[in-house]
Amino acid sequence: PVKRVFVLGNATVDCVQTVARLPVPGETLLCDSLERCPGGKGLNQAIACARTGAATVLAAPLGGDRDGAVLATAASAEANLEARWIASSAPTDYSAIWVASDGENMIVSSAEAARALTEAGALDALADFAAGDVLLMQGNLDRDVTVAACRLAAARGGLRVLNTAPIAWDMAGALPLFDLVVANAVEAATLVGGAPHAAAQALSSAPGRAAVVTLGAEGAILSAEGATTRVAAPAVSAVDTAGAGDVLVGVLVGRLAQGAPLKPALALGIAAASLAVTRRGTVPSFPTRDELARLQAG
Ligand code: ATP
Repeated sequence: PVKRVFVLGNATVDCVQTVARLPVPGETLLCDSLERCPGGKGLNQAIACARTGAATVLAAPLGGDRDGAVLATAASAEANLEARWIASSAPTDYSAIWVASDGENMIVSSAEAARALTEAGALDALADFAAGDVLLMQGNLDRDVTVAACRLAAARGGLRVLNTAPIAWDMAGALPLFDLVVANAVEAATLVGGAPHAAAQALSSAPGRAAVVTLGAEGAILSAEGATTRVAAPAVSAVDTAGAGDVLVGVLVGRLAQGAPLKPALALGIAAASLAVTRRGTVPSFPTRDELARLQAG
């Protein structure tokens, strides 16, 4: 049977307003443009993963409101993606994003639906998770839900991947439950301290465990099976890095599920993320299926 990737995480509507400069307290500004797009690390990573050709299941809480309908429509347009929306009595999660002309941004997010997801709701969405399937999670769900889902995947013989963004609770105890941990440099330093190279080694210290620490324009560090190497990113002119980490994680995990070894899977994730930062927007900047095939070929 085909190995599937189960992405258990959040989905949000992102309301992006571009402004000449960020407002100061008490000020009212007029924006230059307004866009509502699908977002949230769970949904973003599931879309990037599905575009590698991996059979992908997204399990995420969704409110019964207009924003929820927007997200359901966006997800249904993606090939290889099965969305399992978990009905939430909370409003669909929402991010208000201001982007200034110099690229600086401010973001305020709600996480009521993500936080309201129960262990039972999450495990129910993973009911058919089978040996060889891959579980991909991020930091948006509660600790207990994250740990319970990870234990289910372990008991069924699946690979468990954690992207540590955002760090919203003490992850130290949960990290050893995952086979692969992907953190950016700030998260890695927060979790285990030290420079990225040492942090990657610390995050992958147990046998069979691997870690990736991402370094923006410098690419990423991979630590696995006792070896730690840097995988460089192509030099590009970045215009918007929002969602770069999500592309890297989704593509990496999609390729792993299709049998690729860690290093080439990471290299494709980096190439895909570096392409995405040359374009504006989060999901609109993600490489298409054809672009990923071309990156992989060349
Ligand atoms: P974000 O929060 O912006 O989504 P992140 O902090 O999770 O990103 P980063 O380490 O900043 O993750 O970037 C992830 C990947 O995106 C990098 O490994 C690289 O492939 C690509 N990337 C990011 N910034 C640049 C850049 N300036 N030039 C080339 N590639 C970049």
